[in-house]
Amino acid sequence: MFECDLKLVRKHNLAPRIISLTYEAADNAIVAFQPGQFLSLQFPANAISETPLKRSYSIVNISPHPQHNRQIEIAVTLIDGGVASEYFKNTQAGDLIAAKGPMGNLVLPEKIDKRLILIGTGTGMAPYRSMLHQLKTMLTAGLKVEILQGARTRDELIYQQEFLSLATEYHAGYRACLSRQADAEITCHEYAGHVGKPLQQLEPDPENDLVYLCGHPAMVDQQVSYLTELGFDTRSVKREKYFVSGKNKAK
Ligand SMILES: Cc1cc2nc3c(=O)[nH]c(=O)nc-3n(C[C@H](O)[C@H](O)[C@H](O)COP(=O)(O)OP(=O)(O)OC[C@H]3O[C@@H](n4cnc5c(N)ncnc54)[C@H](O)[C@@H]3O)c2cc1C
Repeated sequence: MFECDLKLVRKHNLAPRIISLTYEAADNAIVAFQPGQFLSLQFPANAISETPLKRSYSIVNISPHPQHNRQIEIAVTLIDGGVASEYFKNTQAGDLIAAKGPMGNLVLPEKIDKRLILIGTGTGMAPYRSMLHQLKTMLTAGLKVEILQGARTRDELIYQQEFLSLATEYHAGYRACLSRQADAEITCHEYAGHVGKPLQQLEPDPENDLVYLCGHPAMVDQQVSYLTELGFDTRSVKREKYFVSGKNKAK
């Protein structure tokens, strides 16, 4: 567990409204994590919020040795008028932010004897990106993996090349599900619409599948309902919702 100030070392655009931020501990300490976990950042009061607020962000690094890791990378969707989003728009290399982590259970068990279905929307692909090293090892050992990446348009498909490489080099299934791309195609790697139909086409089976859901709460809720009807329980569906409505949000 770490609780420290992180210093921003790099910031760049990943997609039109999505940025990548790389931090390291201000005292250069180890910031260990398990792929799939997130950290909590505390934002100073700003023009939108008079009091400091906390927000969570999935760790997106691919680290062969995450227990000896010294940098933390996150991918952030910028929300107009969002407290954290406004901070991220303006932050620059060298800025410090208070962080605590790692947290969260959206991690892979050591052994998986089922097919693994990973579904994410937007930056909800971040936990799976940090799992790429583990996934390659598991695919090589015979694990079956299906990945559904949801986004509105093709240019919002963060890390798509890395997931496509996993599909072609390690024989994982991969499909980009584009809800607002006028020329979206229906191919083995692309689908015009939300993730629901492509998930149904995988014929999920509670006895033989382990499903992970991450990102937009409506997507997570819809797919949990669908999978629960099929007989999935909390052990066979892991989930992480990325935000709640502004009114109900805990500060
Ligand atoms: C466990 C966990 C992990 C998370 N990981 C990530 C991550 O890796 N990357 C990331 O970008 N976010 C992630 N989030 C969401 C993140 O914590 C913030 O909620 C998000 O950055 C918005 O914060 P904000 O202060 O800018 O907006 P707020 O001021 O909190 O919200 C402003 C308004 O925008 C709405 N809103 C918030 N997020 C979205 C959205 N994505 N799309 C549409 N409307 C939205 C709110 O409901 C509210 O009405 C995660 C959340 C959780 C709980």
